[in-house]
Amino acid sequence: MTKFVQKQVDDLNSRIKTTEEALQWVSDNLHPKVAKASSFGAEDAVLMDIMLKINPEFRFFTLDTGRLPQETYDIMDIVRKKYDISIEVLFPDTKEIEDMVKEKGMNLFYESVENRKLCCEIRKVHPMNKMLRTLDGWITGLRRDQTKIRENASIFQLDNGHDGILKINPIINWTWEQIQKYIKKNNLPYNTLLDKGYPSIGCEPCTRAIKPGEDLRAGRWWWEQGEHKECGLHIDHK
Ligand code: SF4
Repeated sequence: MTKFVQKQVDDLNSRIKTTEEALQWVSDNLHPKVAKASSFGAEDAVLMDIMLKINPEFRFFTLDTGRLPQETYDIMDIVRKKYDISIEVLFPDTKEIEDMVKEKGMNLFYESVENRKLCCEIRKVHPMNKMLRTLDGWITGLRRDQTKIRENASIFQLDNGHDGILKINPIINWTWEQIQKYIKKNNLPYNTLLDKGYPSIGCEPCTRAIKPGEDLRAGRWWWEQGEHKECGLHIDHK
């Protein structure tokens, strides 16, 4: 595993400003020890399309939490066939899931923030950590205007929560309008939940459609209040 230091990250951010430049640098310098984390939302559709034009061998992985909506499984297969790529699907540890459900039930996440975070930790964070330990960098579809936690993010970040590998956010500066426009212009397949009012798509029991004017991530863990509404994948625990 290659560890980076803040000076290298600052240097990259000062000279690389566009999505394409960032992905070209990643292709030249990190591939194949880099992969894109995808949940098959709108941002992922855009990024995957741009990435494959730059390097058809780029790697993609996704987390199958066991609680995803059918529409997400459908789009996974559509995308796999369209681009003729394989997608690495990561599953949670069976024993951890069994112990959690035995103790707290199937729908523990509705009962407390603590339970919800535990579920995200076991179904998402642990499999993700296992994957990231094999990589020098990972690519995300984060955008700055999605949540407060993301508003200070830049294209290149030092991922202190994952042993100092690089976290690359190539579309961090894109707006929601740009994402929609790119999808339309390039006639990309996308998760049909988008048309049903889901700009942010996660697990089925934890995501619902938003109303016009609501925050783009308001449908995620909608029963919770506050600004902690992240699954833990993008939080720098240090
Ligand atoms: S989003 Fe909901 S179901 Fe999915 S891992 Fe988190 S708490 Fe569990």
